[in-house]
Amino acid sequence: MTSHPEQSAVTVLGLGPMGRALAGAFLDAGLRTTVWNRTPGREEELVERGAVGVLSPEEAVAASGLTVVCVVNHDAVDAIVRRGPVTDALKGRTVVSLTADTPDRARNTATWAAEHGIEYLDGAIMTPTTTIGTPGAVFLHSGPADLYRRHRPVLDALGGTHTHLAEDIGRAAAYDIALLDIFWTAMTGYAHALAVARAEGVTARELAPFAKGIGTILPPLFEQLAEDVDSGRFSGENNPITSAASSMAHIVHAAEAHGIDASVMRAAEGLARRAIGQGHGTDGFLRITEIMSP
Ligand code: NDP
Repeated sequence: MTSHPEQSAVTVLGLGPMGRALAGAFLDAGLRTTVWNRTPGREEELVERGAVGVLSPEEAVAASGLTVVCVVNHDAVDAIVRRGPVTDALKGRTVVSLTADTPDRARNTATWAAEHGIEYLDGAIMTPTTTIGTPGAVFLHSGPADLYRRHRPVLDALGGTHTHLAEDIGRAAAYDIALLDIFWTAMTGYAHALAVARAEGVTARELAPFAKGIGTILPPLFEQLAEDVDSGRFSGENNPITSAASSMAHIVHAAEAHGIDASVMRAAEGLARRAIGQGHGTDGFLRITEIMSP
């Protein structure tokens, strides 16, 4: 690692599974890594590997020019950094929050940081803890580009791909929310599919290989249909929304025949039916993006 002092030391606040993975990657990269967690004890393995464990967050942030905070949400970020001694110790230093929350919370933290002479970048981690320190990790960043450039050598120690999206501090959280929307909606769909399959005597293990096949259909569709949404023209040539609504109705009927809660699929079918009711029956399914928007 470079010998520039700003790039040879880092502090990690928050030692949940992700915070521990980040601190571990910094250690592996040879950075002087100071760690703190609200509940003591979680730093032990990191300290054995060479991290400096400290008793207070003010001590932790004073140890490095760059502090990475990775906790459950921005309420927790606030609880740690918006206390006199910590705020004072952070003055003139940089905070990178790799904490998931809404774009507005990121903007709020940035306003607070600016008011207290603290430089701030916001980021989102899009991959699990096991990817940290490997080429598979994906990080999104937003905030001042020159600040990002300055700290990029340290952030690179986390491995993977780092993308600076925009100066707008809320942009990383906006991507995070949108991408997690896909993930959790898909996982809810998978849970529902498994419940319906089980009621029909099909085990999760039996369905899984075919479920994977459905998963592979999606990535090319994401690319192809992006143009529809951006242009506001929803071609339903090969798969009109009327056909999607009919398919969804079958799922609702099959699930409810087994007494399975079909409220998620009912909501999706409802959006498709509203699109049809408004004269868009021959459009493609993503017309519902317009139907659900104000
Ligand atoms: P959690 O989201 O469960 O966060 C746990 C951490 O938050 C602990 O350090 C905990 O401290 C701290 N914390 C919670 N409330 C407070 C509080 N009021 N004051 C101070 N500290 C608090 O675990 P992860 O480490 O997995 O996630 C951290 C962030 O990383 C989250 O925003 C998550 O969405 C994101 N992320 C996680 C991924 C993963 O695979 N785990 C993947 C991608 C992103 P304590 O130990 O004292 O409770």
